[in-house]
Amino acid sequence: MNLDPRTLLFSLILCNTLMVISLFVATSSGNRVGKRDGMGKWAVAILLETLTWALVAARGHIPDTFSIIAANVLKAGAHALILAAICEFQRRTLPRWQYFAPLALTLLLAVVLVDDIRGRFIWIGLIYAFQMVLVARVLLSDRETRAGRAWRLLFGGAVMIVLVLGLRAFVALSGHGELAQPQVAGAAPHWVQIVSFIAIMATALLGSIGFVLMVKERTDREILHLAMTDSLTQVPNRRALMDYAERTLARRCGKPVALLMIDVDLFKAINDTHGHPVGDEVLRQIAARMLGRLRRHDVLGRYGGEEFCVVAPDTDIQGALLLAESLRELVASTPLVTENGEICTSISIGVSCFLSDGGRELKTMLNEADEALYVAKQSGRNRVAHLGALPAGELAAA
Ligand code: GH3
Ligand code: MG
Ligand code: MG
Repeated sequence: MNLDPRTLLFSLILCNTLMVISLFVATSSGNRVGKRDGMGKWAVAILLETLTWALVAARGHIPDTFSIIAANVLKAGAHALILAAICEFQRRTLPRWQYFAPLALTLLLAVVLVDDIRGRFIWIGLIYAFQMVLVARVLLSDRETRAGRAWRLLFGGAVMIVLVLGLRAFVALSGHGELAQPQVAGAAPHWVQIVSFIAIMATALLGSIGFVLMVKERTDREILHLAMTDSLTQVPNRRALMDYAERTLARRCGKPVALLMIDVDLFKAINDTHGHPVGDEVLRQIAARMLGRLRRHDVLGRYGGEEFCVVAPDTDIQGALLLAESLRELVASTPLVTENGEICTSISIGVSCFLSDGGRELKTMLNEADEALYVAKQSGRNRVAHLGALPAGELAAA
């Protein structure tokens, strides 16, 4: 196959232009107004890349100031913007020199080495490689970015660019600088040239797709979090809690699962006395206190209003009653500190415990815990109750 370098360059420009159009359409979509996730910067970066290749394609027809100096500075600018886009996505800031020093150095070297293509391949290539190392570093150093998979496309792209730059520098060092000049018409391209084009096109495409996917992955995680979290207390909401309970109960491992139905005592009176905002604060603090007491696999969720539930896997009835009693004690022993001063409060807890043999219905378990809670309320509140044979009253507070 005899590939013409100019056709390859044209394909690269076309491909980048289409990518830029797609990115700007994605960035300007109505529901993204005011979003600072780096998409805008990424789109401008790819636009600068496209302009770079357009200037390179025009080399010989336009002054070297544009086709060499401006093109190299634009390329360094594109890399700096890629770094800035990733940092905006990660909501972090880098020292400014990491963006501007490579740009200034590229300008200097492009001016000094305007007639020395080998020197440019080596020295400006080194600066580009440094910029890609910075990109790879920010990708690797952010745990949230690495929570998804799309960052790998960007990381792979940065590594690929460094390899191509290394190859080009090697070619230049071995005295074949002209091999990498895409605008030389007619002559059959060297394999290094073809490899460079394919790598550059692939990184522009995969990098952009990777970046858009990275933004989408995070949006998905945020939406899932919103759908599953109670906005007041930040614990799992009823849906998330019931999902967890269903899954735990369906494990068919034959181990016991406990469910604690927790209700704040006389909460209406707190609202009436101190107002709803203080009532909200009380709910937040009670949830936070209880969270601190749970084991890793126990899940506390807000069942609704001033009711919470704990699903405790691998917990038999004795363990469940001890856990419930320690939660009750935790809330009743120390007053909550609010903007209206200290507020004493307590909780009542109904406990149910089933074996996870796959045959039990969550509804039955909830009913049983609810009935036990009713018993606790009827017995005077601030206590733990269950419907079984164990003397829960022994654990309850006086
Ligand atoms: P009991 O000991 O029998 O449970 O009495 P109670 O006052 O806690 O129970 P009741 O069901 O009469 O009142 C619950 C109150 O909780 C009524 C409701 O306005 C209030 N409430 C429910 N959700 C919230 C909330 O998110 N914030 C605040 N501040 N109050 C809430
Ligand atoms: Mg209630
Ligand atoms: Mg209540």
